[in-house]
Amino acid sequence: MKKDKILVIGACGQIGVELTLALRKMYGDGNVVASDLREEHELLKGTGPYVSLDVMNKEMLHVLVIRHNITQIYLLAAILSATGEKNPLLAWHINMASLLNVLDIAKEEGLDKIYWPSSIAVFGPDSPKRETPQHTVIEPTTIYGISKFAGERWCEYYNTRYGIDVRSLRYPGLISYKSAPGGGTTDYAVEIYHDALEEGSYKCFLKEDTYLPMMYMPDAIRATIELMEAESARIGVRSAYNLSAMSFSPKEISAAIKEHIPTFTISYEPDYRQQIADGWPQSIDDELAAKHWGWKPEFDLQKMTADMLKNLKLQKG
Ligand code: NAD
Repeated sequence: MKKDKILVIGACGQIGVELTLALRKMYGDGNVVASDLREEHELLKGTGPYVSLDVMNKEMLHVLVIRHNITQIYLLAAILSATGEKNPLLAWHINMASLLNVLDIAKEEGLDKIYWPSSIAVFGPDSPKRETPQHTVIEPTTIYGISKFAGERWCEYYNTRYGIDVRSLRYPGLISYKSAPGGGTTDYAVEIYHDALEEGSYKCFLKEDTYLPMMYMPDAIRATIELMEAESARIGVRSAYNLSAMSFSPKEISAAIKEHIPTFTISYEPDYRQQIADGWPQSIDDELAAKHWGWKPEFDLQKMTADMLKNLKLQKG
């Protein structure tokens, strides 16, 4: 067991629940403090310490870090892409202030490591659409993407200016069955599996040929942990790494589901999220993640679909 003491902020969200459970397995239940604005998630109950926290309250956060002898913070609290477009100023305020609170406390307390996720939303309509490289035109048009890009610059700044060991990944859309997604543009790829099993049909809010980069949650959790476990000298990107696993359209995920549920049907009713998706890349080049710390995804669309349907069936009884 390692001596590190970890604080996960936003532990009750889509990523937080699974990441907290994975970190507790590695570091010991008592060494991973989960925190969130919300009530403790069912799957976290009884698995380790839980603290109610608003990350916007810097003083409370600072006290918590000192009281629990925290050495690493995973900051997952954020307003996501679709929700952010409904209240841009709030999304900017929360996404920026939460990160600056954490980075500044890391500096004051000399914390060992910080993890904060970025997103493929940093790319905009003028970025190359296919195999989007790490370094390219980055002109995001959603407030979510703007806040993630600014956050990346802050991470690199705190690393070069103050030596903070901060690490980050540009996650693609994440697909999981354990906890619900939190208001992103790729949420359709989670809802579709639930509706396929419950209704036998799905009404999609994106057009059938909208390709987006996606990843199954077990790959995302493993990528996060592998990045954080890598030797500091290997982390050549201190803003955020491109990260990739698969890319598909609603039509293709629907075909993959039909292989298991032949009667499944899909219809399309694009809404405001289509415009967000149209501004994002269709696939991502993650060669630096592979080169620097050995990233390699395990799940493709077929393997993920089989696993999602199997687990959701078990869950729904
Ligand atoms: P989520 O919305 O499911 O979870 C975020 C959690 O943060 C929620 O439980 C929420 O209650 C909590 N939270 C919100 N405001 C808070 C506050 N003021 N104080 C404390 N907690 C607060 O989000 P997620 O999908 O788990 O995403 C986590 C991170 O990963 C975010 O930074 C997000 O931008 C990034 N990301 C997610 C995806 C994805 O597909 N899920 C893709 C790219 C990047």
